[in-house]
Amino acid sequence: MKYVLVTGGVVSGLGKGVTASSIGVVLKSCGLRVTSIKIDPYLNTDAGTMSPFEHGEVFVLDDGGEVDLDLGNYERFLDVTLTRENNITTGKIYQSVLEKERRGDYLGKTVQVVPHITDAIRNWIESVSLIPVDGKESPADICVIELGGTVGDIESMPFIEALRQLSFSVGQENFCLVHVSLIPVLGVVGEQKTKPTQHSVRELRALGLTPNLLACRSAEPLLESTKEKLSQFCHVPVGNILSIHDVPNIWHVPLLLRNQDAHIAIMKQLNCFSTAAPPHLQ
Ligand code: ADP
Repeated sequence: MKYVLVTGGVVSGLGKGVTASSIGVVLKSCGLRVTSIKIDPYLNTDAGTMSPFEHGEVFVLDDGGEVDLDLGNYERFLDVTLTRENNITTGKIYQSVLEKERRGDYLGKTVQVVPHITDAIRNWIESVSLIPVDGKESPADICVIELGGTVGDIESMPFIEALRQLSFSVGQENFCLVHVSLIPVLGVVGEQKTKPTQHSVRELRALGLTPNLLACRSAEPLLESTKEKLSQFCHVPVGNILSIHDVPNIWHVPLLLRNQDAHIAIMKQLNCFSTAAPPHLQ
């Protein structure tokens, strides 16, 4: 199994869900089979009891799972049928670990965030990524994992650690990290500012994860000079810096990615070449 992890920096609500689904679309149109996992670092076991005013639409899956609306994006973008297990929350992980603890499965050990919670997260990701979601019998080729929240949040730390361990165990050619970040423009100066992204990449690196691609959310397309600056300070090749500027409709985002050859950069990182350009996106 190969993994594409999508993280977010600077602020929440950047468009990680839309970016992750769009990455799935461009990879799928290159002939790869894609599944997805959404991680929500909140303590609710699912989104069913959360206020739609605060949290947005609660998406109901075919198996009755009440999950985050991003799962709805994945199903619509990728034409897959996900299960409630494809949405991991801190609540679900703790519930499973505490049930094991009560059963005595840890054989008297002190149960801790590291390694017990982080192991539970890794095991969950590794087993759920193998569930076929597109009607075929074998597992998908690629699992797109979206980590909700913003890098550096206390809530997401066990997930970051588990994902760091996962990236190390599966190896570089099976793990691609896309970091979605914000490039603001200050009204008076009118310049695209890279510093918030530099800081969030630094934070990610301090936690042991290195971004392979940067997906930059901005009002206008990224300037070449902005990309060069980001490349220099974030240690990501210019060709792997994507401009995900505002578009009138989120269905344009896969096209933005395709036009910037994001699928080629990701497949190169994952060492899974396909000569086909994304056909049905042309
Ligand atoms: P996150 O997963 O980071 O919380 P979402 O993927 O839910 O963010 O997106 C937040 C909002 O931003 C959604 O309403 C989505 O439609 C919008 N959005 C995302 N990307 C773009 C884009 N490139 N242009 C315009 N709107 C976007």
